[in-house]
Amino acid sequence: MDKKEAVDKGMMLPVMEAFYTIQGEGVHTGTPAYFIRLGGCDVGCVWCDVKESWEAEKWPIHSVQEIVNQALEYPGRMVVITGGEPLMYDLGPLTALLKKEGFTINIETSGAHPFSGQFDWVCFSPKKFKKPHSSIYEHANELKVVIFHKSDFDFAEKHADLVNKSCHKLLQPEWSKSSQYLGSIIEYVKSNPEWKISLQTHKFMDIP
Ligand code: SF4
Repeated sequence: MDKKEAVDKGMMLPVMEAFYTIQGEGVHTGTPAYFIRLGGCDVGCVWCDVKESWEAEKWPIHSVQEIVNQALEYPGRMVVITGGEPLMYDLGPLTALLKKEGFTINIETSGAHPFSGQFDWVCFSPKKFKKPHSSIYEHANELKVVIFHKSDFDFAEKHADLVNKSCHKLLQPEWSKSSQYLGSIIEYVKSNPEWKISLQTHKFMDIP
């Protein structure tokens, strides 16, 4: 099997970086976790803070065994698969191996590609720049909408109507617009208590 075929089958994946840190945002804020950031994204958010992830070809290709072996070097047993847009790849082989090794597996995704893999927690963060694939809605445990513009509140509600009933709903100010929108997010959540606020606490802690 050549490398391209192995990537197509999800047996090898481009890894931009992998690191052990504290999950800074969303429902699992504060939990130590090993982040696997896959290279490649075709969503194109204007405010993306990992634009260097977009070109998959820039990043080394690793076998899923190598990726899991590196995760096993740390004491935490929660893994967060992120990107880039991780669902550009078949995540079945990586998540099967992580599961076999006893990891709790979370994903952070825009949902822009068909769902694959087995996860304990799916954080769905839809983006206006590329429509989510319909397969994401039944899997989402957490809907996390980044507020960058006042129209994002309506965008958040539109997706809240599509996720399952038990899905947690969070609004998160985009970092550079935090001072502009935090006040309206606070008021919105007070008036619409099915929502909660998510802050990028890792940025306050100055950790990755
Ligand atoms: S989906 Fe994520 S990685 Fe892709 S452009 Fe948007 S913020 Fe950046």
